[in-house]
Amino acid sequence: MPKNNTEAKMLDPTPLDQSVAQSLRTVADFPKPGILFKDIGPILADPALMNRIVRALCFHAEECGAGALVGIESRGFLFAVPAALALHVPFVPARKKGKLPGAVLRADYALEYGHDTIEVQKDFVKPGQRYLIVDDVLATGGTAQAVAKCIQQGGGQVVGFSFVLELGFLKGHEVLAKAFPSTMLHSILKI
Ligand code: AMP
Repeated sequence: MPKNNTEAKMLDPTPLDQSVAQSLRTVADFPKPGILFKDIGPILADPALMNRIVRALCFHAEECGAGALVGIESRGFLFAVPAALALHVPFVPARKKGKLPGAVLRADYALEYGHDTIEVQKDFVKPGQRYLIVDDVLATGGTAQAVAKCIQQGGGQVVGFSFVLELGFLKGHEVLAKAFPSTMLHSILKI
């Protein structure tokens, strides 16, 4: 018997992708005109759903044989940290340029207008270690690809990518599959 309401909701027979779809909020013209922003706020506010998502993430990490989880700033942290804790594996943050001290591994990626740079601290990338890269949303795949390049520069092995939501029409899946053909890509919900 479930001990409380959260435990009861964790036993929800609704498929996880449907539960995520029901919770996600789409906000038009945020942060700028023309963007349909996928707001994960209602997911974060639902501990039973978060629990199911983190368990799915752990399952994928184990399937890939990942020995460490890399979270992409900043919403990727919200999923990668609890999964890394549950799996007893290291969490490594990937952050925008200039936020991390010390020696960093760095890769550029294209934005709609211009480019940006992502960095990972060098001493947390171990040669031969197997890394799973985690974020909330996969759009064009540029950010995740840049993070994977940082891990590879440090001699780490990228074994998979995990997302809560994939925006299929932006073809990020195809970009990652082409650039990293031997990695496993998993998204809980694809729209
Ligand atoms: P991309 O590099 O194009 O795959 O973009 C991925 C990054 O941008 C992720 O860190 C997402 O959090 C964020 N992102 C891109 N598009 C959206 C969107 N429509 N709604 C919310 N976040 C987005």
